[in-house]
Amino acid sequence: MRVPVMTQPANDQDAWPDDEARWAAVRARDANADEVFWYGVMTTGVYCRPSCASRGAKRQNVQFFDSREAARAAGLRACKRCKPDGASLKDIHRAKIIEACRLIETAEEEPSLDDLARHVGISAYHFHRLFKAHMGMTAKAYAKANRAQRVRARLAKARSVTEAIYDAGYNSASRFYVDAARDLSVAPARLNKKAKGEVIRFGLGPCSLGHILVAASARGVCSILLGDSPERLIEDFQADFADAELVGGDEEFEAWMAAIIGHVEDPHQGLDLPLDIRGTVFQQQVWQALRTIPPGETVSYSQLAQKLGQPKASRAVAKACATNRIAVAIPCHRVVRQDGSLSGYRWGVERKEALLAREALAS
Ligand SMILES: [Zn+2]
Repeated sequence: MRVPVMTQPANDQDAWPDDEARWAAVRARDANADEVFWYGVMTTGVYCRPSCASRGAKRQNVQFFDSREAARAAGLRACKRCKPDGASLKDIHRAKIIEACRLIETAEEEPSLDDLARHVGISAYHFHRLFKAHMGMTAKAYAKANRAQRVRARLAKARSVTEAIYDAGYNSASRFYVDAARDLSVAPARLNKKAKGEVIRFGLGPCSLGHILVAASARGVCSILLGDSPERLIEDFQADFADAELVGGDEEFEAWMAAIIGHVEDPHQGLDLPLDIRGTVFQQQVWQALRTIPPGETVSYSQLAQKLGQPKASRAVAKACATNRIAVAIPCHRVVRQDGSLSGYRWGVERKEALLAREALAS
């Protein structure tokens, strides 16, 4: 992740507004106050940073200065111990924040705010403010964005999803199994037999509807998942193909993925890829029926049930729609309520709305 253009650091003068606060900072050797103000010991003729380790100036001998220039103008010379003529506040802060960014980007596990602050030698409170002022986001938000990007980058070459998750700094891959097991009401051991021995190619990328995960078996596209979070998509994907051998996409796969993303962006572009549709006989019937609904049209669940010759099965039809794992290519978004309202969508009703709006424009 590249560091965005830095903004001007926050003005820290207000953290030590008066001499009383400044004296307290000097007594505490508070490094946070360094480069914010300087103090001079008028009896020795030396000026120092607040954090200076030299001992015991008396309060009555101390004066405070907003700049090193002001201290020099008062006839003082720089302390040899704390060397108060160092780099500027702006440069020091920038260097610290860049250092923190590098640590976030390279750490095995996400560093805490305290870790980061300690690493660059300032208090957590000060670091938090400084990071936000420079980067326009919190360190936590930066770490999250960075982590998601690392998963995406590593998925492309990792031997397994689990490995990619570990590589990217998630330390709880077992949680993925636990969550998946709960969602599916099956035991983890059962999950491990999913797609056993198969090679599944897959890729993850951004699209205008958020993130998209595409996976394909030797028979065709077996998963198209849409969502806000790459982690969640991986979780869903892993629940379905827990024991497959997961590999990055080859050239053919990349072309399929491009075609799918192109189709999401513009439904005018047809989508004619082989699909590997896995489900019960009934699910497969429902999903095949969905594929006969042309773009720009919608049907209700009961219409679809009638079409299948099972007019009383509209609930089961709705359930089959909700379990479709090949978004867009199996257009479950074209099924709406009897009254035309959108009802639910496995990948978020806003995405359903967006897909239908694009198709309405296209038709
Ligand atoms: Zn000093």
